[in-house]
Amino acid sequence: MVYPEHTLANTLSDASAATDRFTHVSYQRTPFDIAAYERGTCEGPCFVCAIAAGDPEYRGPAEMIYEDTDVLVFLNRYPTLRGYTLVCPRRHVESVVGGFTEKEFVELQGWI
Ligand SMILES: [Zn+2]
Repeated sequence: MVYPEHTLANTLSDASAATDRFTHVSYQRTPFDIAAYERGTCEGPCFVCAIAAGDPEYRGPAEMIYEDTDVLVFLNRYPTLRGYTLVCPRRHVESVVGGFTEKEFVELQGWI
């Protein structure tokens, strides 16, 4: 397809303006504390079970989207992308490969 020169220039200009708008968006970022994360994963309780149990240290900061007797859906506390959402079984599971029956795994995937 051949674009008239002025149309292409306008398109590039519009794209550049759109890019400028996105590069000037600011939001508060929380630095990731990797040392605390390592300590927590090695020494602390399972954060999903703590959230499920209502532990205020974990439950308080969790932005819950949905929960029922089987599943918890909440925003990641340290998101690498906006809207990074965790979908977890309410019961403790150690392995995403071996911790579920096929039926349970498929049901959990239905939330994603
Ligand atoms: Zn757990």
